[in-house]
Amino acid sequence: MFKKVLIANRGEIAVRIMRTCARMGISTVAIYSDADARALHVATADEAVHIGGAAAAGSYLDGDRIIAAAKAAGAEAIHPGYGFLSENPDFVEAVERSGLVFIGPSAKAIRAMGHKDAAKRLMEKAGVPVVPGYHGEAQEVVVLATKAREIGYPVLIKARAGGGGKGMRRVDDPDQFADALAAAKREAKAAFGDAQVLVEKWIEKPRHIEVQVFGDRHGNVVHLFERDCSAQRRHQKVIEEAPAPGMTVAMRAAMTQAAVKAAQAIGYAGAGTVEFIVDASKGLKPDRFWFMEMNTRLQVEHPVTEMVTGIDLVEWQIRIAAGEALPRAQEEIALSGHAFEARIYAEDPARDFLPATGTLHHLRFPKELPGASIRVETGVREGDAVTPYYDPMIAKLVVHAENRKNALAALAVALDGTEIAGSTVNTGFLAQLARDPEFASGRVDTGLIARRQEALTRLPEPAPRIAAVAALAASGARSLPDAPDPFDAIPAYAHFHPLTHRRTLHHGDQSSTFAITGHRDGRFSVRPEGDGADEIFQLSVDANPRIAAWPGHLTIFEGASSHTFRLHDPLALAEEAGSAGESLRAPMPGLVKLVRAAPRQAVKKGQALLVLEAMKMEHTITAPHDGVVAEIAAEGMQVNDGTVLVRFEEQGA
Ligand code: ADP
Ligand code: ADP
Ligand code: MG
Repeated sequence: MFKKVLIANRGEIAVRIMRTCARMGISTVAIYSDADARALHVATADEAVHIGGAAAAGSYLDGDRIIAAAKAAGAEAIHPGYGFLSENPDFVEAVERSGLVFIGPSAKAIRAMGHKDAAKRLMEKAGVPVVPGYHGEAQEVVVLATKAREIGYPVLIKARAGGGGKGMRRVDDPDQFADALAAAKREAKAAFGDAQVLVEKWIEKPRHIEVQVFGDRHGNVVHLFERDCSAQRRHQKVIEEAPAPGMTVAMRAAMTQAAVKAAQAIGYAGAGTVEFIVDASKGLKPDRFWFMEMNTRLQVEHPVTEMVTGIDLVEWQIRIAAGEALPRAQEEIALSGHAFEARIYAEDPARDFLPATGTLHHLRFPKELPGASIRVETGVREGDAVTPYYDPMIAKLVVHAENRKNALAALAVALDGTEIAGSTVNTGFLAQLARDPEFASGRVDTGLIARRQEALTRLPEPAPRIAAVAALAASGARSLPDAPDPFDAIPAYAHFHPLTHRRTLHHGDQSSTFAITGHRDGRFSVRPEGDGADEIFQLSVDANPRIAAWPGHLTIFEGASSHTFRLHDPLALAEEAGSAGESLRAPMPGLVKLVRAAPRQAVKKGQALLVLEAMKMEHTITAPHDGVVAEIAAEGMQVNDGTVLVRFEEQGA
C-alpha cells in the first residue's frame, strides 16, 4: 500500500479523501493556491505545497507543477478528486510517465468516455441502450437540422465535451434549431474549447438514475447499485438519493447489468458512474432507460452510495490503484436503508440562484439527528471565506435512515438545524424541497424544481416579532437579575440611566426603529415605532438562542430560513468604502453590475472601478487613490458586505 498520497484538489473532496487516507495509515500532501493558504484541506493534510495563484489555471489545473510537487514530497500516488484534472487523460499519462500512480482509471478509459458522442457510439456497439439521437461526426447545420427532424422534436443539443450541465439547449420548434445550435456551439467553445455537439431526443418526464461501478486491474467489475439525481436545476444536481424511489427488481437488474457491461467494454478500473436517462412517464420500465454518459471519476454525490452500502469508495479507489483486487464480490454488496445528500451552496435562490461569496462568520451543522445518521462533508470552517475563484459549494449534508420517508424527514430537520451567516445560502430552498409533497411522493423528475421554483424560492419576510428579537439583541441588553437597570452591565451605557433605548435595524431596503424598555424582572418590552406598528413584544434576552452576531449584522435563524439585519445604514457606509486602504470591500450585499477596470490597469483617484447594484440602486465604487488594480470582482457576481471588490497592487510592486 502507498505510504504517501498527494491530493490534487481542494475543498470538501480533498478533506474527505484525506480522512480515508488517515484511516488507512497513508500520509497526505495537500496542494494549495494563494487563495487557499489557510484552507481546511491544507490544515488537514500532513504536509502542503503551495502551487500557484488563485486562478485554477495557474494552480489546481497546472498538472506539471502538481506532479513536480508530488515528486518533491516523496508521494507515490495522486488522487485527483472530482473536477479539475480528474478526467484529463493527458494528465494521467504525465503522472504515469513520471513514475507515479494515478488513483483513477486509465487514460485510455477516460478518453473512450471523454466525448459524449464517441462514448455513445462505443456503448451502442457494446449493446448498451443509448439515448436516441445523432452522435456522428457531421456538424453542418443542414445535416443536424435534418437529423433533428428525423429524431422528432423536442430535441436536446449537447456539447460532446460538456459537463456540469453546460452547453445544452432544448429545442421545441424546428424554426429555432439554427439559432439554438449556434448558441450551444458558442457556449461549448467558451466553456470546453470544443464546439462539437450531438443531438438527442428530449426524453419526456425524465429521471436521472446513475449506477456506481467499480473495476479492478484484474478484469473484475461490480456495481454498487443506483443513485437518483432527478432533483435538478438547469441540468445540475441539487438533492441526490440512494436507492432510486420506486425502483423495481427488474429495472434495477437491467440498469446495473447495462452499467457493468459499459464498464467492461472499456476495461474499466477504479470508481466510475454510468449515467442513464429514464422515461418515467409510465413508471420505471426496463426498456425505457438509456445511456447518457459515463463519469470516469469519483462523483460529488458518492456519499449516498457509501451510506447505503457501508463501503468507503475512496478506500476502494486507493486499493485498486495499488493493484489490489476488488475488496468484495457482487453478492457481498448489499443495500441498507435510504440516504439523501443536499448540496449547500453560497447562492441566492431568490435572485435566480446568483452565486454568492462572503465570509462564513457563523457556521453550524447539526451533530446528530433522532432516528437517522448525519454526515457533513465540508471544506470550510467558521470564519473561512467563500471566494469567487472556485465552486461556491459550502457543504454536503448527508443523512441516512431505515427508509426514504424517515431519511427525507431527517434531511429537512438537518437543514433546519444548519446555521450559516455571512453569505447568502440555499438552505431555505433545500429545506422547502425536502418538504415538497411531490418530491416526498417519490414521483420525481428533472422538471420538478422548475415547476415549483416559485414556491420553493419564496422567502418568508421576518415576522415583526423576529425583528423585535433582533432589535433587543442589537441593543446589547443582558439579563442580570441583580442589576437595577438591565443596560447597566454594558460599559457604553453605564453612564446614563434611561430605561428605554432606541435601536434602528435595516432589512432589505427597510429600516425600522424599536423602543426597548428594560424591566426589573429581566424582561423587555420592544415596541416598533412608526405607522401602524402598535404591537408591543414582551421578550427576555435568553428567549432566542438561534442568533448569530457578526460584524455589523445580526442573523436570526428560524427553521431553515435566516433573517439578516444590518446594524448600520448601508448607504452611509458606502461613502466610506473608498477609504479602506489596499482593498475595496462591498459596503452592502449586492450585485456587481458593471466592471470598468481590469487587473494590471493603472487607475486614477476618483476613477469609477465598478458599479454595485444594491437595495434597488446603483452605487459606483471609485478608486480611493492612484494605483494599479491587482484583482477585481467579476460582472454578475453577487457579493456580501465585506467582500473584497477590488484589490490594489502593493505600492512600488
Ligand atoms: P456530478 O456533480 O454528478 O459529480 P457534474 O458533471 O455535475 O457531475 O460535475 C462534477 C464535477 O465536475 C464538479 O466538481 C464540477 O466542478 C466539475 N465540472 C463539471 N463541469 C465542469 C466544467 N465545465 N469545468 C470545470 N469543472 C467542471
Ligand atoms: P453533463 O455532462 O453536463 O452532466 P449529461 O449528459 O449528463 O451532461 O446531462 C445532464 C442532465 O441533463 C441530465 O442529468 C438530465 O437531467 C438532462 N438531460 C440530458 N440528456 C437529456 C435528454 N436527452 N432528455 C432530457 N433530459 C436530458
Ligand atoms: Mg452528467
